[in-house]
Amino acid sequence: MYKRILLKLSGEALAAGRGFGVDAVFVSAIANEIAEVARSGCEIAIVVGGGNFFRGVAEQAVHMDRVAADHMGMLSTVINAIALQDAIEKTGLFCRVMSAIAMHQVAEPYIRRRAIRHLEKGRVIIFAAGTGNPYFSTDTAASLRAMEIGAEVLLKATSVDGIYTADPKIDADAVKFEQITYMDILKLGLKVMDTTAVSLCKDNNLPMIIFSMREKGNIARVVKGEKLGSLVTA
Ligand code: UDP
Repeated sequence: MYKRILLKLSGEALAAGRGFGVDAVFVSAIANEIAEVARSGCEIAIVVGGGNFFRGVAEQAVHMDRVAADHMGMLSTVINAIALQDAIEKTGLFCRVMSAIAMHQVAEPYIRRRAIRHLEKGRVIIFAAGTGNPYFSTDTAASLRAMEIGAEVLLKATSVDGIYTADPKIDADAVKFEQITYMDILKLGLKVMDTTAVSLCKDNNLPMIIFSMREKGNIARVVKGEKLGSLVTA
């Protein structure tokens, strides 16, 4: 069983079937799963995305300055972090949001040593506002924070049960990779995560598991070492 994990949840995941905003019922279900894993003794840090509200590179931002649009994108991750924190604390666990952009009334600032201390005390932490810099993604933030806090693995929960040769929702002949290297993801141009995030994981030997969070209990299964989804190694 993993002792310390970094869980990446995309904004779309929190929107569940709605496509936009936060699905309270789904967020509560995810919070219960996270609480169950935390109570089993695993230290959990989460990076949330913001695509369910705003993406800097999206259609809606084409006429905007990229930096301004990315600032909006990062702020949208804070909304998700607060929603998830609320749901996690309703399960009885303590949970802290740490933001890469200062907003003291809403969240703690991200301080690495303090983050590690929260984990040691059994608190779940949610990293908000990505890396705090425009031109990056929350996948890159997830790889960066995973390395900073010494997570054993990056768990990327998605709507698909792993990495495929093509999009399985479109191509019926798509084949799933049980295991793949970061280099092959880059060479094959697979759209698992952006290239900055892929190279960061590759250069620092951070293993990643991509799995589906559509089935209840999958987070606990992956943490216990059950073979689910696709394993990515350096
Ligand atoms: N973003 C950013 N810097 C970061 C992380 C995120 O500028 O370090 C912005 C960027 O505009 C991005 C948006 O925040 O599109 C939301 O993050 P992301 O698209 O990664 O969310 P997800 O797809 O996981 O929901």
